[in-house]
Amino acid sequence: SSIIIDGKLVAKKIRDEIASEVARIKGSTGIVPGLAVILVGSRKDSQTYVRNKKKACEEVGIESFEATLPEDCTEEDIIKHISDFNSNPSVHGILVQLPLPQHINEEKILNAVTIEKDVDGFHPLNIGRLAMQGRDPLFVPCTPKGCMELLHRYNIEIKGKRAVVIGRSNIVGMPAALLLQRANATISIVHSKTKNPEEIIRQADILISAAGVPNLVRGSWLKPGAVVIDVGINAVDDSESPRGYKLVGDVCFGEASSVASAITPVPGGVGPMTIAMLLSNTLSSVKRIHDLK
Ligand code: NAD
Repeated sequence: SSIIIDGKLVAKKIRDEIASEVARIKGSTGIVPGLAVILVGSRKDSQTYVRNKKKACEEVGIESFEATLPEDCTEEDIIKHISDFNSNPSVHGILVQLPLPQHINEEKILNAVTIEKDVDGFHPLNIGRLAMQGRDPLFVPCTPKGCMELLHRYNIEIKGKRAVVIGRSNIVGMPAALLLQRANATISIVHSKTKNPEEIIRQADILISAAGVPNLVRGSWLKPGAVVIDVGINAVDDSESPRGYKLVGDVCFGEASSVASAITPVPGGVGPMTIAMLLSNTLSSVKRIHDLK
């Protein structure tokens, strides 16, 4: 049976490492890292994500700034807040909580964040650089970065391996595939229009699944010994849970864990890594802006 990749534990370790670096920087320079979050509208899930991000900042000593705008605000309103954060020297990272309301042009908003503070790594220039050889983005999107960090911390070799990513979204699938390629894997991307996905998935030494479809990947679809990183977070009915539902990944965990050499659980795998990477990006931003070691 496979090694269970403990994202909760790794994320805790990373947050502890960040907390001591933040304390060291404060002690030696007086500089306090700052992260600004812009929330538009009143989606419950977005409010929860923003609250969790602020709490995680507090725990490691990063100061958090927040701008909350009403659902019916204009693009100009949002850009005004972004501009203020862009020029605020106490702010080293800026993120706009997605999704934005329908009437807002997401690209226009993401373009307004200065790339120097783009800790979500969603600015088109940072994404573009991620895709280019010999160029480096200033920031890499947090969820795919968290997947790579798990592979590194479990000493999983990537170079020369066959990697398959399920999903091609801008925030997970596409950047995950680019990161695997930069780490010298040979990549394939499987998406909703792919014919015979299992044929491709069966070739994977490393599989990153970010489809958002519960029980999509069966144990029989995996190459024996494959490493499985399951990004999916899907709510499925569960009469035994007091909430009436439970969270599962994209991969049938029970089946897969007898075939894979290592696998992330859901919850407790990639999930906790995302916020840890956001804090890590904020720390590297303050170091770059102030030219700190
Ligand atoms: P998305 O809906 O934007 O993209 C899903 C992708 O999967 C699409 O590219 C689509 O082509 C592909 N897809 C859909 N059905 C498929 C199928 N049957 N076979 C193959 N490919 C299929 O979603 P997203 O934002 O990329 O998120 C994906 C999943 O990851 C969701 O479950 C989400 O909740 C989760 N997620 C987790 C974290 C985290 O762990 N912190 C962060 C972001 C997203």
